[in-house]
Order: sequence, then C-alpha cells, then structure tokens
Amino acid sequence: MRLIDVLMQHDATGHSPRVSVDMLPDAETLDAGDPLRGKRTEFQLPAGSIYLDGNSLGPMPLAAAERAKAVVGQQWGQDLITSWNKHAWIDLPESVGEKIAPLLGAAPGQVICCDSISVNLFKLLCAALAMNPGRHKVLSQQDNFPTDLYVSQGLQQLLGGEHCELVSVEEDEIEAALSEEIAVLLLTQVNFRSGYAHDIERLTRLAHKKGILVIWDLAHSTGVMPLELDHWQVDFAVGCGYKYLNGGPGAPAFVYAARRHHEKLQQPLAGWMGHHNPFTFLPEYQPASGIKRFLVGTPPILSMSVLDAAMSVFADTDIAQIRAKALGLADFFAVRVLTNPALSSLELVTPKEHKQRGCQLAFTHEHAYAICQALISDGVIADFRAPSILRFGFSPLYLSYRDIEIALERLAKIMESKRYLDERFSQKNKVT
Ligand SMILES: *Cc1c(COP(=O)(O)O)cnc(C)c1O
Repeated sequence: MRLIDVLMQHDATGHSPRVSVDMLPDAETLDAGDPLRGKRTEFQLPAGSIYLDGNSLGPMPLAAAERAKAVVGQQWGQDLITSWNKHAWIDLPESVGEKIAPLLGAAPGQVICCDSISVNLFKLLCAALAMNPGRHKVLSQQDNFPTDLYVSQGLQQLLGGEHCELVSVEEDEIEAALSEEIAVLLLTQVNFRSGYAHDIERLTRLAHKKGILVIWDLAHSTGVMPLELDHWQVDFAVGCGYKYLNGGPGAPAFVYAARRHHEKLQQPLAGWMGHHNPFTFLPEYQPASGIKRFLVGTPPILSMSVLDAAMSVFADTDIAQIRAKALGLADFFAVRVLTNPALSSLELVTPKEHKQRGCQLAFTHEHAYAICQALISDGVIADFRAPSILRFGFSPLYLSYRDIEIALERLAKIMESKRYLDERFSQKNKVT
C-alpha cells in the first residue's frame, strides 16, 4: 500500500481533499534518516540539475569514469592485445554477469553480459521455442516495449507463422490467455509507459502450470526491484546495463538462463565466443557448456569495462533499502502532485499501490512533451513518452528528498505560469 495508504483510501474523484502534506515528514527529516544518502558522492552529477531520468540512462559513477581512462590509456594504449589475459578482458562477460546476478536473485553461473536486450531476446526466443516442441505461440502484451514485439515479429517472419506466432493481448487479458497452445510467455516486468509492475512469481507459476516457458524483460527492474529469479523458478530473463545499472550509453545487456535448462539450450547466433573452445579454431561449432553459449562475437571491452566498474556502487547496498527509498521518493513526489491544486491537470497513470509499480511515475497531460521540455530547461531532467506521458524516474542511489522537493517547486512554477505553452518547448527532438 502507501502513497499515504492510497491517499487515505481516496475519495470518488481520486483526488483526496483530506490529505494534507503537512501530515508528512519534510524532506530534511527524510534525508537525515536515509541509509543510502552517502551513495551520492559516488556519482558525477551536473550542478544545478535534478536528474529524474536514471531509469532511461543512469548517470556516471566516478568509478566508471576512472575505468574508462584506465582501459583506454593503460590497457588498450599500453598493454594492447596482452590485456585479454593481463586485464582479464576475456572474462568480462562472465565476471560482469556474476556482479549482476545477486541483484536478480540468481546463483552463480546463470547470468552473462552480452549484446543488447533486442539481440538477447532473439537468442532466447529461438532457444525457448525449440524447447517447447509442438507449440509455436509467443504470448506478449500489446503495450510491451516495442523491441520485444519487433523481435518476435522478425522471428515470425524468419521462421514462418507455423513455427513462431506472436499473440499480443491487453495487460488484463494475459492470465486468461495462458493456455496449452502457448510456447513462451514474453513480458516486461515494469511497463515502460505506465510504470505498472507485474507479479513475476505469480505469472511464472501460472504459465508453468500450462507448460509455458517464461522470458522476463527486466529493463526497468534490474537494480531497483527486489528480484528472486531462482526462487520464482523463472526460465529466462534479459535486462539492461545502461538504465539503473548506470553502465553508460549503449552499455551491454545481460541474459539470465536457469541452470536446469542449460544443456538443452540451442541459440541460433552460434559465434566463436560461444564455442566450447574458441582458441582451437575448429571448423565445427560446439556450444560452450552453460551460460557462455549465449555469447556470439567479441565483447565490447570499452563499454563492458565501464559497466563492470559502475557495478561497484551496488557492492555494499541492500536491494530492499534501494526499493524502499525509490518508493519513498516516488510517494513524496506523487502525494504532493495529487494534493497541489496547481498540478491537478497532471493525471497519475501509475498504480498507487506499491506492489503494483516499479520505480517510476507516469502522468498524462495533453502538453506532456512541452512540459517536459520546459522542465529540462529549468534543470529538471524527466522524459516524455508518446502520446502524452510525462515520466519521472526515482533512482535512489543519488537522489535526495530535497531534490524531489526542488523538482516539484520548478514543476509547479511551470504549470502555474503555463510557460510550457512557449513555442520553443514544442519543437520535437529526434530522441525523446
Ligand atoms: C530500454 C529497454 C529495452 C532496450 O533494448 P536494447 O535492445 O538493449 O536497446 C528493451 N526492453 C525494455 C522494456 C526497455 O525498457
């Protein structure tokens, strides 16, 4: 529950006149009691800005910048090719995977860092379909992140509809659509637009009852949501290195595959790095044992090294604390938006219940794009998602409650003055 107990069991309009922010602790008190407050010093953050977009591109950990210098200067610059051994470049996909694993609730040997989510989904979908012979349907959600749908559509075109058929339904139709006709359930835990969070454990259990394999996209989960993939018996998952893991633009993604499936897994992008013994240069492909068979080609060492270093900010953290603070920040923001008459035109589309949401909030407004641009020009970085969503991410390792308070003040000024109507805020950029 929370968002002060769903706005004291809100009234019929959804806005609660009975809730007053005076009833809540102030930002100073909350910051003083924040067990993660010291983490901020591990990041480089631009002065004067409040960064509410760490769910899209995490900011730079200082350790990442240092590693980038070392990899380019010493490792590539001086040690050249000997670095594959000397600096263990060759082990990075596995060693970074092992650093991500605890955040997923995964025992060792089941996570590997490689490629992008899109490419990893292609590999996993092929492998999962082959493991469920006699079935060919991939069930997903209409408003899933488009790349998940596109990869499925591409595979359908490649294999033919009789071997792969994407069936996408609305969020509330998923459970009813789980049937013995479905081979694979492909879902994203936290919806990138609405912030709605699926119950992975429940859906995985329901899918397994019907003999369906599950693939979870954890792009907006990894690093902020407590995950128990082993315990929940998840089959496969993918996630992102550049969002809450702060690995830098274009950082490689990861694959999780439950150990029980490893020896049956055949993925179609058979490349030399996934070979049983790449440096024997044999003409026949023989997959590596275990999770390494998901590797394809040479890993992007510059960006994988940076992600490796960025992971150090999680070393002494507790995911339960991270989640609690993310919800605390989001509630702090949402309660004040919902109770401020000046902000009443912003409609919260993210569920109010903690259990049903990730660590971002989405509001709709017909001028969402322009409001977002006006906020950015005032140093509050949020983002816009078509057609009309204003999205705020609450990454808890570097944000303070005071930051949220400042962001709210700037937002209220923009909304009160309607400054977003200024023409320059409506010019569309290529990336939103
Ligand atoms: C960001 C995101 C991706 C990104 O996919 P890439 O192929 O790594 O660019 C995929 N899925 C979801 C749900 C995302 O939010």
